Amino acid sequence: MSDVIETTAATVNSTPAGGDDLLVVRNLKKYFPITSSFFKRTVGNVKAVDGVSFSIKRGTTMGLVGESGCGKSTIGRTILRLHDKTDGEVLFDGVDIFSLNREELQKMRPKLQIIFQDPYSSLSPRLPVGEIIGEAVREHGIVPEEEYDDYITRIMKACGLQEYHKDRYPHEFSGGQRQRICIARALALNPEFILCDEPVSALDVSIQAQIINLLKDLQKEFGLTYLFISHDLSVVEHISDTVGVMYLGSMVEFADTATLYDKPLHPYTKALFSAIPIPDPDAKMNRIILEGSIPSPANPPTGCKFHTRCSECREICKHKAPEFREVEPGHFTACHLYDEQ
Ligand code: SF4
Repeated sequence: MSDVIETTAATVNSTPAGGDDLLVVRNLKKYFPITSSFFKRTVGNVKAVDGVSFSIKRGTTMGLVGESGCGKSTIGRTILRLHDKTDGEVLFDGVDIFSLNREELQKMRPKLQIIFQDPYSSLSPRLPVGEIIGEAVREHGIVPEEEYDDYITRIMKACGLQEYHKDRYPHEFSGGQRQRICIARALALNPEFILCDEPVSALDVSIQAQIINLLKDLQKEFGLTYLFISHDLSVVEHISDTVGVMYLGSMVEFADTATLYDKPLHPYTKALFSAIPIPDPDAKMNRIILEGSIPSPANPPTGCKFHTRCSECREICKHKAPEFREVEPGHFTACHLYDEQ
């Protein structure tokens, strides 16, 4: 690993963290080893997440955006310990998730839930909906047995499902209803945090709005905290309080939603946001087209990882990684254009 990349990872610790943060991620790294086919020796690493830090306040939503392969889903899964970490820290309500033993993690599991992109493949086709939603409720003893039926009915209704849906199977539902079942399954465990991993990408646009509004309503009612991963910038703007922008395993910009969408600083964020359609036929779009493709995370460019595609690249960008720092109150970015003079 080059010294320059090491510097990036070491300097991203300065993202905001306050007293009412439910989730704090510090310098998180997740590398996937590349092994040689013959001796099975590790010959390199795919740096899917390379030193990312952020925090999410209780009862709020943080959006995470970036092109496919930028590492946003890997971050989500590592936070939930569905992947082991390579380095860094994930604190949930002050507890380091990676310090928990198997039993402690099992107890913690209901508090951290996930909603997947494809509602169909994440539901067992052999179980009726009532069982799908209630299976883990029984396993974790969320409510006493005598209250179980009423509890499942209540959760289903909160998610826009009817009681008679309990005996039906996933294939009998539309895509939007299946996603409601997935949300109900997560909600039934009385979670505090839900990772929403592209939860509306597979749905029709009209259904997307219903699911987003449902998530917002449930957040208000149950005080939920979301990490919302999506490549759809309009959806992220609608649901998020803060947004982080990822590029090649690193966070390049972070701010509250209004600030980021009004005044993006990083050239990559500007290019990404220039592609958002404007709902005005007379408005002229100033689309910034990025040259070239995303470099391999197994062999990222030295210096600023974005320098091979950046129209504002300077000499320093090619060999020195920019520091991820607070440029304006609450607005963080990693770019030499904002270096202190
Ligand atoms: Fe572009 Fe340089 Fe900023 Fe990287 S550091 S985004 S190459 S201007």
